[in-house]
Amino acid sequence: MIRLDSVSKTFNRAGQAQVAALADVSLTVERGEIFGVIGPSGAGKSTLIRLVNLLERPTAGTVTVDGTELTALPESALRAERRKIGMIFQHFALLSSRTVFGNVALPLELAGLDRRTIAARVDRLLELVGLTDKRDRYPAELSGGQKQRVGIARALANEPNVLLCDEATSALDPETTASILQLLAKINRELGLTIVLITHEMAVIKAICHRVAVLEHGRVIEQARVFDLFTRPQTATSRAFVASVT
Ligand code: ADP
Ligand code: MG
Repeated sequence: MIRLDSVSKTFNRAGQAQVAALADVSLTVERGEIFGVIGPSGAGKSTLIRLVNLLERPTAGTVTVDGTELTALPESALRAERRKIGMIFQHFALLSSRTVFGNVALPLELAGLDRRTIAARVDRLLELVGLTDKRDRYPAELSGGQKQRVGIARALANEPNVLLCDEATSALDPETTASILQLLAKINRELGLTIVLITHEMAVIKAICHRVAVLEHGRVIEQARVFDLFTRPQTATSRAFVASVT
């Protein structure tokens, strides 16, 4: 479903040395898989996930999603492809002036759907994430977990086949984290959605991921099935992450 081939990303900072956020990263995410990416702060995780939908353009290498090479597309064609890729964020990025319904409806309004189609789809999504009773509430009236459920419903609005999650549970307490991870696992199971999940917490990987890549200093230093990473970590960094949960 997703293939990165020899992807590098270098940032130029005014008056400073270049930063190689990612260096020669290659990885493949299978259709229907929950793929985790773990690594310390500054390893390049957010850059990696933003490359998948080309919010960042790679300096070198190619990005292919569902058979389409995104790096070969002009910006206009890219916009349509991006609709098939949903994304959720650590701090939810909801619009405070819109209700729960209005937040989830927004991408559908932008896509130009008619009001009845929008209302039907939003209500179905709110049921999926368990927020039917919060339909007319504003973000400020919700808990962190409820806000992230709105974020998930909004990300699913355009019926994507990939969901990108950047530290989606890092602002949540352990119990709420567990319930959001269970929701993501249910979406993966029931909708067959491919999920890429970025985290710095090994417990998140252990809870729902099938395979995992370990990122350090912009490089993939290990890629394995989660069970294998836990039983036979190959690098010192992986061993440290594994030790952090067992
Ligand atoms: P992580 O999400 O793993 O903490 P990031 O992908 O955010 O790591 O960052 C990787 C590296 O790239 C860091 O050194 C960071 O400072 C740098 N970086 C990320 N985004 C930018 C940017 N827009 N401009 C300059 N440097 C950046
Ligand atoms: Mg990050």
